[in-house]
Amino acid sequence: MSVGFVPTMGAIHAGHLSLISEAAKTCDITICSIFVNPTQFNDPDDYEKYPVCFDEDIRKLTEAGTNILFLPSVSEIYEKGTRNLETYPFGKLEQLLEGAFRTGHFQGVGQVMSRLLKIILPDKLFMGQKDFQQTLIVNRLLELHDIKTALVICPILREKDGLAMSSRNVRLSAEARKKAPLIYHTLQFVKANFSDIPLDRLLEEAIHHLEDNGFKVDYLVIADENLNLIEHHNNKKTVCLTAVWIEGIRLIDNLILN
Ligand code: AMP
Repeated sequence: MSVGFVPTMGAIHAGHLSLISEAAKTCDITICSIFVNPTQFNDPDDYEKYPVCFDEDIRKLTEAGTNILFLPSVSEIYEKGTRNLETYPFGKLEQLLEGAFRTGHFQGVGQVMSRLLKIILPDKLFMGQKDFQQTLIVNRLLELHDIKTALVICPILREKDGLAMSSRNVRLSAEARKKAPLIYHTLQFVKANFSDIPLDRLLEEAIHHLEDNGFKVDYLVIADENLNLIEHHNNKKTVCLTAVWIEGIRLIDNLILN
């Protein structure tokens, strides 16, 4: 009997449901958790404002084929509280990109994922490429603990206009929502010109385009699959990753270039 596990923080959208479908297709039992993990939020305001809509989530997840829903409280996951928790040697992986802009975020991811995995003991763990760096961190966590769970990385689901689905999208104003697809269009611009324009110039142009349209760019980089930054075009697996702010909402996205 195989168990598939999809961890989420709720505010369920079609992106989450695609992970549930994938799990239901390949596993006998699909387990989904909703847990807004306090230890991975470096910004208390972001934690406070994280959308919560349990009834709606439960309906969507049940319809999509979830067999078991796990909705633990903070004290169930962190029995001894959330202070002075264990830390993980993620090394440079947690200092780059998201790690550089969200201090402690990936330690929080490690803390919650190690607890959830210990409780659920899944055969397969389904996570989204949307959180590219997070998939590398979880992979490292599995290695560090010698956990045999297989990590399955699922593609990014997007709205029709290209915006990557995210629980945070509901917080966008109508104006910001109209602008937000520019993030994906910029990634596509980078992909289209990746082999033709020197990468420093290409990224500069892409960042200016976002800034000219009202985005604040935390980063827009091209990296290999281990997140080593790439300075020159090559034929290895390469990804363009970005994090931007629009009207006080932070959105991330990425696109595989080759
Ligand atoms: P979250 O609730 O944001 O923590 O996301 C739970 C899981 O869903 C993570 O593995 C995410 O990478 C994944 N996910 C979030 N957005 C998307 C999306 N647009 N497409 C596919 N998976 C996603």
